[in-house]
Amino acid sequence: MALIYPKAYFRDVTEIKKDFLAENEIKALILDVDNTLIDYDKNLKKETIEWIKDLKENGIKLYILSNSNKKDKVKTVAEKLKLQYSYFAKKPLKTGLKKAMRIIEEKPENIGVVGDQIFTDVIGGNRCKMFTILVDPIAEKDIWITMIKRPIENVIKNRYKKQRKEKLNVYK
Ligand SMILES: [Mg+2]
Repeated sequence: MALIYPKAYFRDVTEIKKDFLAENEIKALILDVDNTLIDYDKNLKKETIEWIKDLKENGIKLYILSNSNKKDKVKTVAEKLKLQYSYFAKKPLKTGLKKAMRIIEEKPENIGVVGDQIFTDVIGGNRCKMFTILVDPIAEKDIWITMIKRPIENVIKNRYKKQRKEKLNVYK
C-alpha cells in the first residue's frame, strides 16, 4: 500500500468509535493536535473531551504527538485531557512515533495514528507500520475550503467515501 493512503478516514475524531478500534485490534491511539483535537483558536470541543474520556475508560491508551514547536499550546491540551505528550515531533520522520510507541508499550499494528494531514500524520504512521486514520481538519469542515486547500487529501477521501457507499449498496 502506498504510504499516502490512510487505513481509515473519518470526518471527526469523535466518529472513531471503540467498536471500530476493537474490530481492528487497535489498543492505543497517537493523536495529532492542530486541526485534529483543536482548531486555530485552540478550542477543544466538549465532544472531543468526552470522546477521550470514554476511550480511556475502555482501556484505550492515548498519547499526544504534535509537530508544533509551541510547547505551551500542546501542554495545555495534554493537561486538559490528562494525557502524556510530545511536541516538535517532526512527523513524517519515525523518531517521535517510535518514542511514543515505546512509552505506550504496544506493537505498531495495534497503534492507531490519528491526524488531519497525509504528509505528516499518515505517511509517518504508515512508515512505522501503524494503523493510520485520517480525519478532516477541524478548521476546514467547509467542503469548498477543503477542496481548494487540500486537493490530494480530497482525492483520497473521495475514494474512501465511494468505497463506503459501495459497501452500503452490497449490504442493502
Ligand atoms: Mg494537524
